[in-house]
Amino acid sequence: MERLQDTLGRTFPYLRLSVTDLCNFRCSYCLPEGCFDHHHNNALSINEIRRLTLAFAAVGTQKVRLTGGEPTLRKDFLDIVSTVKQVPGIKKVAMTTNGYKISQCITQWKDAGIDSVNISIDSLDPKAFELITGHDRLKDILKGIETGLASGLSKIKVNAVLMKGLNDESLDSFINWVSNKPVSLRFIELMQTGSNTRFFNDHHVSGMKIYDDLINRGWKTLPRELDAGPAQEFYHDDYRGRIGLIMPYAPDFCHNCNRLRVTSQGQLQLCLFASSGIELRDLLQSDDQHEELVIRMRESLKLKEASHFLDQGITGMTRNLAQVGG
Ligand code: SAM
Ligand code: SF4
Repeated sequence: MERLQDTLGRTFPYLRLSVTDLCNFRCSYCLPEGCFDHHHNNALSINEIRRLTLAFAAVGTQKVRLTGGEPTLRKDFLDIVSTVKQVPGIKKVAMTTNGYKISQCITQWKDAGIDSVNISIDSLDPKAFELITGHDRLKDILKGIETGLASGLSKIKVNAVLMKGLNDESLDSFINWVSNKPVSLRFIELMQTGSNTRFFNDHHVSGMKIYDDLINRGWKTLPRELDAGPAQEFYHDDYRGRIGLIMPYAPDFCHNCNRLRVTSQGQLQLCLFASSGIELRDLLQSDDQHEELVIRMRESLKLKEASHFLDQGITGMTRNLAQVGG
């Protein structure tokens, strides 16, 4: 079957699927007040997720990342993982987590079919970690990462949102931490959303300072894989781990966009900052709707914009990244 393509010829081997918009953390840039009543409990069921993944796989998707909100809050999380993993054509199942359950569950996640895990750690200082997330969990999360590495999970990445005055002077501590671990630590530039304008104005900082520091210290850039995320990765012969940089405000950031998103309510999002979503849930109710679903997905792709408009402060319908599965 023909691969899903937009009008610019971009194809989409990568789906980011939100399985809940609920979260137990209160990250300052995302859900500083925690979850409110605009969050939903009626997330996609396992059968809806299976039909959705079958449709995406039929048009060329090979990698699915389970995200949220906090995906591990779903009681049926392991069933979701194995359901997605069993879909023919899906070669990799990844997840993004705040790490809350990592030390108890990482081996189960791997056994259910998870190939790679991204964990969010914005600071290696326990006090700063607690200040940013509202939870004193750093020690436990770091222990969970060690368990994951010991269990043979080879792809572990750590996301750190780069924030002026909070962690933008932390390159040394992160570099030291990856020196003897096969882990990729990626700095993500803080993005503006509908609900964090003030925090964004106070804390946004360009990733170029990190870029320059890495190059000056002898780190070298790595080529990107087809289904990879937008991170520019760096390696250094003296370090086991890698450092990555995700700079959504860079002018060419969207040129190689290779991912689509589906919210926990079954809306296709053509961009993290799209002005509206496309309803898919009504076509996830029976196996007979597969063809119709694929047609709607193809038609929708005609609406995908060349890039986001974040540089103009336009954040679309995205109040926070928990809502769309960042
Ligand atoms: N709860 C999980 C977690 O925190 O890893 C998964 C969902 S979270 C929305 C996915 C990623 O988006 C996390 O790495 C988080 O740090 C990042 N994120 C959330 N809001 C952001 C923002 N405004 N700018 C940049 N990254 C953000
Ligand atoms: Fe929750 Fe992740 Fe948002 Fe933090 S970034 S509040 S862990 S969804």
